[in-house]
Amino acid sequence: MTDMRDEVLEQFADFTGHEADGLWSAPGRVNLIGEHTDYNGGFVLPFAIDRRTLVALGTREDGMLRVASTFSDEVVELPLGDLAAAQAAGQLRGWAAYPLGVAWALGAVGADLAAVPGADILIDSNVPVGAGLSSSAAIESAVALALNDVWQLGFSRETLARVGQRAENDAVGAPTGIMDQSASLLGAQDAAVFLDCRSLDARVVPLGFEAAGLTILVMDTGVQHAHSTGGYGERRASCEAGAAALGVETLREISIDELDRAGRLLDDVTFRRVRHVVTENQRVIDTVALLESTGPATIGSLLDASHRSLRDDFEVSVPELDLAVETALDNGAIGARMTGGGFGGAAIALVPIEGVSRLQVAVDGAFAEHGFGVPTTFTVRPSAGATRES
Ligand code: ADP
Ligand code: MG
Repeated sequence: MTDMRDEVLEQFADFTGHEADGLWSAPGRVNLIGEHTDYNGGFVLPFAIDRRTLVALGTREDGMLRVASTFSDEVVELPLGDLAAAQAAGQLRGWAAYPLGVAWALGAVGADLAAVPGADILIDSNVPVGAGLSSSAAIESAVALALNDVWQLGFSRETLARVGQRAENDAVGAPTGIMDQSASLLGAQDAAVFLDCRSLDARVVPLGFEAAGLTILVMDTGVQHAHSTGGYGERRASCEAGAAALGVETLREISIDELDRAGRLLDDVTFRRVRHVVTENQRVIDTVALLESTGPATIGSLLDASHRSLRDDFEVSVPELDLAVETALDNGAIGARMTGGGFGGAAIALVPIEGVSRLQVAVDGAFAEHGFGVPTTFTVRPSAGATRES
């Protein structure tokens, strides 16, 4: 991380010919439990991880926004004054839609973009892209925090989370919820963020993994998911249809006791989508209760149940994710589940620290045996949220 910080500051100086005003960072996240509940007004329990996106930023006097990333050779420029029109015309595209979308969204929540200076923004990251660890929220949150500081906007972290979500929804065009940005902006060391996506109340819940001799192994299947297309939007539509048929605004309103009634009213597919969301909300609440009473070693069966529900009821898993989870459970993990939106990406296993290398070898072997692509596995530590680095 220290090397990365120095490097990005050097690259910024090469890019602009002067020193950056400052350096900001924001983490990716792992969702411990609570999948596809956020847009249903439900509960999620993500934690910020020790993989971060760095943003070096320097203001400029000509009202131009200029963004570059170590992720791409392309440098994208746009006058601040053209942001609103570009957003309205759907012209914010590709990776630059994330940082430029954040600048636009800051304007949309009340910043006077005519009164602030332009900026050079250089982005670097070690959050794997498209692995379900939310490199998108990391970039949004780091840029939002940086612009909030240099433009002296004084927005709260909760507002900045909504800014990141608006950028993703209305500039990038991905209909995602508020979870990822909340984890990235509100996360804390060795803790998860228990977020109520209806009230947006957030509470930090200590995880105590290390003290319990446990860690989280991420098993990235390498299967790419794309939020802007396909299944994610369909699942959201099913949830909305289910809520409408049950006469509630969101599925958050439905309790486990009401599932029998839902089963009689809904077609089979919609019912199973609803059942996932309703039971998943309860699993989040139960996980928090266990973490706060008996500790992290006791949450394994809730993680397993979450995976089965995502696989069988919500149908967003893929064979690679199922194999990673099964292999983990057969090789010493005390719980495992796919994490993130699904259709690819990563699974997580809660595993005794001394069992990590054995599990990594087992996952590699299982993937090879099934003729799947080579997975990438690495541990993550629950870490601090977005911050100004220098
Ligand atoms: P995830 O959030 O799971 O990693 P997404 O598809 O939501 O996957 O977001 C990935 C996209 O975010 C990338 O395709 C790219 O457009 C953008 N992005 C992520 N990290 C960076 C980065 N360091 N520099 C530029 N763009 C990035
Ligand atoms: Mg994302």
